[in-house]
Amino acid sequence: MTLFSSFQREKIYGELTEERLDILVIGGGITGAGIALDAKTRGMKVGLVEMQDFAAGTSSRSTKLVHGGLRYLQQLDFKIVAEVGKEREIVYENGPHVTTPEWMMLPFYKGGTFGSFTTNIGLRVYDFLAGVKRSERRKMFNVNEALDKEPLLNKENLKGAGYYVEYKTDDARLTLEVLKKAVEHGAKAINYAKVVDLIYNKENKLIGVIVEDQINGQKYKIFAKKIINATGPWVDELREIDGSKQGKRLHLTKGVHLVFSKQDFPLQQAIYFDSEDGRMIFAIPRDNKTYVGTTDTTYEGDIAHPTLTVEDQDYLLGAINSMFPTLKLTFAHVESSWAGLRPLIAEEGKKPGEISRKDEVFISESGLLSMAGGKLTGYRKMAKDIVDEVVKELKDEEGILYTSSETRYLPISGGEVGGSEGFKVFTKQKVKCGLEIGLTKEEALNLIRQYGTNVETIFRLFKERANEALENAIEPITFAELVYALDYEMAFTPADFFIRRTGSLFFDKDRVEQQRVGVTNYMAKSLQWSKDQTVKYEQELTKMIQESCVN
Ligand SMILES: Cc1cc2nc3c(=O)[nH]c(=O)nc-3n(C[C@H](O)[C@H](O)[C@H](O)COP(=O)(O)OP(=O)(O)OC[C@H]3O[C@@H](n4cnc5c(N)ncnc54)[C@H](O)[C@@H]3O)c2cc1C
Repeated sequence: MTLFSSFQREKIYGELTEERLDILVIGGGITGAGIALDAKTRGMKVGLVEMQDFAAGTSSRSTKLVHGGLRYLQQLDFKIVAEVGKEREIVYENGPHVTTPEWMMLPFYKGGTFGSFTTNIGLRVYDFLAGVKRSERRKMFNVNEALDKEPLLNKENLKGAGYYVEYKTDDARLTLEVLKKAVEHGAKAINYAKVVDLIYNKENKLIGVIVEDQINGQKYKIFAKKIINATGPWVDELREIDGSKQGKRLHLTKGVHLVFSKQDFPLQQAIYFDSEDGRMIFAIPRDNKTYVGTTDTTYEGDIAHPTLTVEDQDYLLGAINSMFPTLKLTFAHVESSWAGLRPLIAEEGKKPGEISRKDEVFISESGLLSMAGGKLTGYRKMAKDIVDEVVKELKDEEGILYTSSETRYLPISGGEVGGSEGFKVFTKQKVKCGLEIGLTKEEALNLIRQYGTNVETIFRLFKERANEALENAIEPITFAELVYALDYEMAFTPADFFIRRTGSLFFDKDRVEQQRVGVTNYMAKSLQWSKDQTVKYEQELTKMIQESCVN
């Protein structure tokens, strides 16, 4: 059991409060996780608090791509294409279990946004700016080649397609793996810990926060030399508490994704296409599902619970049926969905889709550092930039020297396999181990891709605790994952487990339905929930299941 366990909450609070930290990060999405890791590996004392579950904000609700941002070429945002394009390779090599290359096809049509020439030039510029390796550089297809790759494409006026590589990921698991690495290095991180107030000294400088535990209501004071607001869509709420919400502000835009079964939407090739209003949409095969997104509309509702509306669903169904006309999909085919909020920096007079995704740091009079904008893909570079700023401030204020960022070549948790090449060898070896303990090849592969080197613990739990799984009426693989999620990934509720530890709510709803009772009972027993808590967490999961469908 590590200090990233649901059974160690009191101990973690003890360590967060016992001495003044160098950096306290507020927010446990990918931005906060990246900052914690970067700062910790430079030798700082680091704490991180998250008011919901880790990654419960935008970082579990993205398109789940580590990508070079081809669409930013359209906006002539060359800097962001170059930056995130190069970061993509780093994210991949440091965590090849959680990020996988995916060839993407970009079909073009007579009269469409792109033609053969513009696609070819665009992808060439992209290869150059993003420093794409030779084996993954763009290819161009004629009509037959394009249809060969994906027979479902609309054939009318099809002129050909571009072919290039993006990387598929699991955003919530990426966040957890980064955070687990930070904790392994000594960072203290806790979920369900909400910053409800800020503490200042006589000079009005920020010196600490008051945190309220969202499970038992207890309050704690945490002090730190530097406090970083990495709260994504909530950045302005914290700036408001700090009295520093002046000048630049956030503009939240909502993006939704729909999930279909492979049977209803048998896509064999990932496609990046433009809808009738010119927005670019991804259709991506994943396990036995196909998912499609996204929309981009201004959002002003409850930040914690953005949901899918009938309009969102109709818009995406319209785009799908126009690109894949033989499918004739309706709302009845939607198996699941999710909605997320982009924490963009407002730009006067621009439509949601036109606002830049660049990141920026705001520093308030009190010293609060807020990080806004950005992408999942660029998290490491964003973290490096803001920690560089902190290092500069600490040097000026206290003459303390810290090293430069060390995350460029640092594998994240589960990624200690020697990069993408090493992962191939590791996978072969571990599949054998999986077969030896009674898993099928497919089951072993899924677990290896999910947990990387940590799969060894999962395999051990599967083997040693199979009887306990049966006693608790939980299927043995699910039981091994559940025990791991409690002991090593701080899951506290069934929603934490089924959404952010396993992704099952989006991509395997049957598993949720079959295992939810066993999982809930086991969590209630081992985490000693009260009756009220059991009802609350059960209802929460039911609500999440309902919200993932509007039909
Ligand atoms: C629809 C959509 C698709 C996207 N697709 C991609 C993609 O494919 N690739 C890509 O690179 N990027 C993508 N992005 C962007 C990317 O997902 C975000 O930039 C990133 O996840 C933001 O992470 P974050 O940590 O800043 O915010 P969040 O993940 O929202 O984390 C902030 C955290 O702060 C916590 N918090 C808030 N207030 C407090 C408080 N008072 N105390 C404690 N904690 C608090 C919240 O609970 C939350 O968990 C997409 C975004 C959207 C919306």
